[in-house]
Amino acid sequence: MSPHLLSVDSLNREGVDHLLRVAAQMEPIASRQQVTRVLEGAVLGNLFFEASTRTRVSFNAAFCRLGGSVCDTTGFTFSSMAKGESLYDTSRVMSGYCDAIVMRHPEQGSVAQFAEATNVPVINGGDGPGEHPSQALLDLYTIDKEFQRLGKRLEGAHILLTGDLKYGRTVHSLIKLLSLYDPLRITLVSPPGLEMPAHLVDLVTSRGHRVEMREHLGTDFSDLDVVYTTRIQKERFTEEMNESFKGVSDDFVVNKGFLDRHCTSSTIVMHPLPRDSRPGVNDLNVDLNGDPRLAIFRQTDNGIPMRMAIFATLLKVDGLIAEDLRPVRWFVPHQTGTLDR
Ligand code: ASP
Repeated sequence: MSPHLLSVDSLNREGVDHLLRVAAQMEPIASRQQVTRVLEGAVLGNLFFEASTRTRVSFNAAFCRLGGSVCDTTGFTFSSMAKGESLYDTSRVMSGYCDAIVMRHPEQGSVAQFAEATNVPVINGGDGPGEHPSQALLDLYTIDKEFQRLGKRLEGAHILLTGDLKYGRTVHSLIKLLSLYDPLRITLVSPPGLEMPAHLVDLVTSRGHRVEMREHLGTDFSDLDVVYTTRIQKERFTEEMNESFKGVSDDFVVNKGFLDRHCTSSTIVMHPLPRDSRPGVNDLNVDLNGDPRLAIFRQTDNGIPMRMAIFATLLKVDGLIAEDLRPVRWFVPHQTGTLDR
């Protein structure tokens, strides 16, 4: 694995399988049964120049659960970038303070540019419409875990990716990761103008996968194993697009009716979150809350073991986990959340 995680391009099938295995090993720590101190003394710099809840907090929690500490800054306003500091200078400065850096930035390619000025491992926490490799890895880990529970195999599965496939960075990383597996059936459904970039469709097709593109969800679907929905990334629209975009029609909504019509009891529904719950937006419908096929909160929980696996692998302590486990000593509720509403 390269010293950084900037794009899933740096991973081959072996590297991905290693991360899935290490993440599984992290489960007792993530579920607060055991503790480890393998990163005792290490410091993470968490730099978020774009909105985030899950990614920032879960990277933070993952590092702490490995025994490390975290320093973070959010937004441009409170960083020296507001004073005109370059990515290069910020990167050089941060490398003097931290042992690993997670960065999110609104411009595609910016995190890779930042990483050029440092030998400290840098993880891309989302670079504009570019990539979000750790999200894709936790998505793959979720699919793998759910399929094991359901007695299914990833090979040959039918995966539907829908929503904003043009600006949604999570699906850009995910489709590349999926392409490393044996032939899949991938259906892409997006509103006009928000289709998956052609170079990604070409890549996946060239690796032997069957890709179909559709214009709405109103037609028939069969044998869907995974329905992966995404939010319309309006913050990335140009002014012109903002004016012409009339919102997402009912034809794109994944709701109970869609699942009952096209899916089975073993289909899972995923979303990188946040889902936009404002009226008329037509993101993943809340009428699925409580439906066991809705895997979105199991997916967010999986962010911790996968992000722990990424840190442990980049900082080369992945081989030390098994011998460094102790039971937790504080009170842990039987179930950390309430029902998956
Ligand atoms: N949280 C994901 C991201 O940062 C998805 C989203 O914002 O819609 O890309």
